[in-house]
Amino acid sequence: MDCKESKLKDIISSQECKTLTEAIARSKNVVIVAHTAPDGDAIGSSLALGGVLKSLKKRVTLIMPDALPKSITFLKGAEEIKIYKNAVEECNSIISFADTIFCLDFNESKRVDLMQDVLLSSSAYKVMIDHHIYPSDFCDLVISYPEISSTSLLVYKILNQLNLTKYVDKSGAEAVYTGMMTDTGNFSYNSNDADIYVVISELLQKGINKDEIYRIVCNTSTLDKLRLNSYAISEKMEIISNKGVAIINLSRKELNHYSYQKGDTEGLVNVPLGIEGVNVSIFFREESGYVKVSLRSVGDYAVNTIASELYNGGGHKNAAGGEFFGTMSDAVKIFKENIENYIK
Ligand code: 5GP
Ligand code: MN
Repeated sequence: MDCKESKLKDIISSQECKTLTEAIARSKNVVIVAHTAPDGDAIGSSLALGGVLKSLKKRVTLIMPDALPKSITFLKGAEEIKIYKNAVEECNSIISFADTIFCLDFNESKRVDLMQDVLLSSSAYKVMIDHHIYPSDFCDLVISYPEISSTSLLVYKILNQLNLTKYVDKSGAEAVYTGMMTDTGNFSYNSNDADIYVVISELLQKGINKDEIYRIVCNTSTLDKLRLNSYAISEKMEIISNKGVAIINLSRKELNHYSYQKGDTEGLVNVPLGIEGVNVSIFFREESGYVKVSLRSVGDYAVNTIASELYNGGGHKNAAGGEFFGTMSDAVKIFKENIENYIK
């Protein structure tokens, strides 16, 4: 689709547009990096941008700190993504040859985990395209729009402004849609922006099957996964009803009992929000050496402050996360002790 035909509103400033256009024009060897535990948005936005840059004859490599969730691997090009943890030397060498690095869907260099040092020490021109609040300043060009629901939507809107959406093919459109869908809980939160639906309309015209993408991403449960999630809800969920808070925690032993695979508890934290009167949901998962914390809320309850002040993390108002370096019982205890400060 040509820019002039699109009903999409512009997002980036003319200065950002000019600087980004120049950066793309002079780039030859491009690396696209996204955050650790990459999700649909991190992967979708990276594949979409990567596809367009390849059409512009750039040499493009996508590198993610660690493995992709199985539910997202259907996207075309996902199999070519390098996993840093599994190929440190090779990835370091590719990064050393990069003249331009795009940092997608993260706002702080620590979000790339083991890749942080090599990213920071690279002399490549770095461009951040992201939608998390408080972007740090490790990139040369920072394009940060927290009001946009997904980095995938932001990438598409930027491509539209640069008159490049004509290079988004069906696979790229599937990637954009997947990111938009997963970061809005299938368009159930952060999803009142009319441009979302203008973009979906354009993506449908590029041939995506949105119903099938939903089925592939959301309906790929294993029996163990379903049983683990059912167990978590029926046996491990605690409701603090006077606060409208739900708490779930799963120990390593419990996870192992259900042959936990990475991604198996994705979405679990959202489930308690379906209970009338529950406005905040927190989920603790024991990892080796730390506890991974996920928070979700509805309305005006800002869970990113809880994530940053108690759990070394951050995120968005209604979806945030972090890590607790201590025992499970202390992770839960600190939340309960501080609940009064955050939830009135
Ligand atoms: P999830 O609960 O799905 O892991 O993460 C939800 C959102 O919280 C992510 O999109 C991200 O914005 C943020 N988030 C999750 N974990 C962390 C973390 O460890 N650090 C920071 N800064 N943000 C996180
Ligand atoms: Mn995102």
